[in-house]
Amino acid sequence: MDRRGFLKGAAVAAMGSGIPFGVRAETPAVRNGQVTYSRTFPVKIETDVMVCGGGPAGVAAAVAARAAGARVFLAEAFTCFGGMGTAARVPVYMQFGDGIRPLAAGFGTRFRERLLKAGAISSNYGSFDFEAVKREYDAVMVESGADFLFHTKVIDVIREGDAIQYAICASQSGIWAVKAKVYVDATGNGDVAVQSGVSFEKGDSMGKMMPASLLSSWIGIDWDQWRKGRLSFNAEIDRALADGVFKVPDRHMTGIFKSANGLGNANIGHVYDLDGTDERSLTKGYLRGRESMQEYQRYFSEYLKHGLENIRLIETGALMGVRETRRITGDYVMTLDDYVKRAVFPDEIGRYAYPIDIHPLTADKAAYAQHREEFDRLYKYQKGESYGIPYRILCAKDVKNLLVAGRCVSTDQKVQASIRVMPACYIMGQAVGFAAAMAADGAGDIRRIRVPELQKKLKDFGAYLPNA
Ligand SMILES: Cc1cc2nc3c(=O)[nH]c(=O)nc-3n(C[C@H](O)[C@H](O)[C@H](O)COP(=O)(O)OP(=O)(O)OC[C@H]3O[C@@H](n4cnc5c(N)ncnc54)[C@H](O)[C@@H]3O)c2cc1C
Repeated sequence: MDRRGFLKGAAVAAMGSGIPFGVRAETPAVRNGQVTYSRTFPVKIETDVMVCGGGPAGVAAAVAARAAGARVFLAEAFTCFGGMGTAARVPVYMQFGDGIRPLAAGFGTRFRERLLKAGAISSNYGSFDFEAVKREYDAVMVESGADFLFHTKVIDVIREGDAIQYAICASQSGIWAVKAKVYVDATGNGDVAVQSGVSFEKGDSMGKMMPASLLSSWIGIDWDQWRKGRLSFNAEIDRALADGVFKVPDRHMTGIFKSANGLGNANIGHVYDLDGTDERSLTKGYLRGRESMQEYQRYFSEYLKHGLENIRLIETGALMGVRETRRITGDYVMTLDDYVKRAVFPDEIGRYAYPIDIHPLTADKAAYAQHREEFDRLYKYQKGESYGIPYRILCAKDVKNLLVAGRCVSTDQKVQASIRVMPACYIMGQAVGFAAAMAADGAGDIRRIRVPELQKKLKDFGAYLPNA
């Protein structure tokens, strides 16, 4: 299309929708396959703290920042809170404590109590009632007094010097900006940090990341029969692989978790070589994930049986279950050595204890055996043991008003495989919420807050901080 056609097309599109998608300030230049153009967007929201992403880390951050007295706006790209735990259908929580005491104390333990009371999780059923979990997330956010929007994706930032000035959001009504004093990247993928120019790492030394899983819900399970059979979900996997039931020789199966009579939520199947920051890779992954569910249905009903004869798939997650993408570089990179030492940090904002759970990067027997060895024996903590989480892994390098929380914080791949689970995201989320509120109340600089004061506020909020 020539330039005149391009301009006309854009103008007609904007007029046709009646949506003010921005006012063009200069004509576009196309050079070497790159388009440069500029537009003017309204600043729709001004706030103290902007939280980007409403998964476990983002909700904890927003609630904590409000508790600290800050004005908060949260932008969520999808249609609900909870991230992987709701939209992707992750079926259960990993451990909240160290076997003796609660570690994800504060927002985490209070939210879990709330879910139990609402019947969204129960000690009998175990797995989530996803709709109830979504409602409870909605309720804590509404009660917190934070402003928030769904269908609102942060697509860029305007950074001047060492500070973010504006976040640019693409929403149902068009493109607009948010002005905040401090920003929290809780997007899971570190989108905002990358838009701000912060460096990151991905995967192992070859860039290889853990496989994703398209999580799923199933009906027609006779749980009494299944339990009587005392089988593991991969009991017949070798026979099924030999018979060619599966396209990929994946032996690692976490299983199906009971959510109600006849119903179960499953963490089964892996989509290998998926990059959760690449839409083409994701698209391919959804196709493979959906296809593999038919293979599992056959495996359950024809090979495992014992109450699974009539099992049927209800649905797969609306979002791909992505375990790992970018790890944003912070002021400190936490490593396996820290995990092994059960490290204590002067600036710790919490402690956690989940094992190193790197799902095998390839679908072969040796990789699976290594995973079992690491998870069950090599790095497993004893009751009462935990590692410290330093504030510095939440501070995005060289940006003075950007904090990061959740599965994309500054660690090596092994530590990410522990710290990525939801209770740890609550610990990190509440810490960045308080830190962001303190910075917004001061110089707008996350490195100029007093860490002992942050630790005191966290303790008052209920956090477990034995070393502060
Ligand atoms: C297959 C699988 C199984 C797992 N099993 C367990 C388990 O059994 N127990 C457990 O505790 N944990 C488990 N986890 C881990 C856990 O669910 C996630 O690591 C955790 O949810 C991460 O939380 P988060 O807030 O960092 O990110 P996410 O949960 O990914 O949430 C990020 C949120 O940000 C939004 N977002 C993304 N980009 C943008 C943007 N640019 N602008 C605005 N919003 C954006 C997303 O829509 C999403 O809502 C599992 C994960 C996977 C994938």
